[in-house]
Amino acid sequence: QEAEAAEYELDTTTLHMGTVVSAKLLGKTPEAVKRYAELVESEVKRYDDMMSVHKETPLNEVNRRAGEAVPVTPEIAEMSRMALKIADETGSAFEPMIGPLVNLWKIGFGGNEVPSDEAIKKAIELVDHRKVRVWEDKGQWFMQIGKGQNVDMGAIAKGYIGQKLAEKLVVAGATHGLLDLGGNVVAIGEKFPGQPWRIGLRSPDKERGSYFAVISAANESVITSGAYERNFEKNGRRYGHILSPVTGRPVTTDIASVTIVDSHGARADALCTALFAMGWDKAEAFLRAHPEVHAVLLKENLEDALVSEALRNKIQPYDSNLRMH
Ligand code: ADP
Ligand code: MG
Ligand code: MG
Repeated sequence: QEAEAAEYELDTTTLHMGTVVSAKLLGKTPEAVKRYAELVESEVKRYDDMMSVHKETPLNEVNRRAGEAVPVTPEIAEMSRMALKIADETGSAFEPMIGPLVNLWKIGFGGNEVPSDEAIKKAIELVDHRKVRVWEDKGQWFMQIGKGQNVDMGAIAKGYIGQKLAEKLVVAGATHGLLDLGGNVVAIGEKFPGQPWRIGLRSPDKERGSYFAVISAANESVITSGAYERNFEKNGRRYGHILSPVTGRPVTTDIASVTIVDSHGARADALCTALFAMGWDKAEAFLRAHPEVHAVLLKENLEDALVSEALRNKIQPYDSNLRMH
């Protein structure tokens, strides 16, 4: 039975959705891992063609036809409904209708100027997820946003897609593997029986090493939002790419990074963005009120970390200066 127990491994990296998508795929035969790799490649492309807001996609059709009932795929409907729910739960710290502000600031895609107060004010008025409707009629899903509104699923889509990819790989026969969509990691099964995957939590400060801690994970998503991603500097101030629907400006946060571990990748991704935007005190209060949300918050001093009860025996610090609370 030697041959049957043997594991073949294939590592792939592709560029999609403006991000690096890598996969470590394990299987019983070389043919199986090749099949998994092809599935990852074709599905990532299919989702990118469905959900990117930077090209003509069915999701973008909702924006182009703002004010009308637009037919959408079941996946867009499912992700949008999750997004609307999390927007409610987080008091719009995660706000999927942030589009008009994203397109005004263009942070991470060419923006390097601070818009006028007037332009910001006009954009804020359009940002409101309560005006969005998603419904099914005779087996077809529809979505309708308000006139002038603009949906941006950038803070949830990669988590959602990672989750869907993992589900499809499992249906295709994969029992373990690791997907990474630009820092949105999904652990399929364990690395080896009895040995979970170990996922490094990136340090925002490279001089301290690449990782500040490592988390053990199996059958769950590990998603991180950090201050070190896309941003620009102007007059000595750094503008990050997560915006506040209240001020219309990049959020000022005392959190360096948020990691969420959840069996639902979309939920983890959206909550990550929300907690980051809330800042330490509000995020801490949110976690206290929602013990089912498992998170690691790293403070801007890079020395204090808040670790959810459920993750305490799964996290290992790499940085000896780290104080875990
Ligand atoms: P990344 O995907 O870069 O790791 P996020 O998951 O936090 O980071 O998503 C950030 C993206 O989400 C932004 O580039 C923008 O498109 C969108 N966005 C910005 N601010 C918000 C917000 N308050 N709520 C929801 N989405 C946002
Ligand atoms: Mg996110
Ligand atoms: Mg993200």
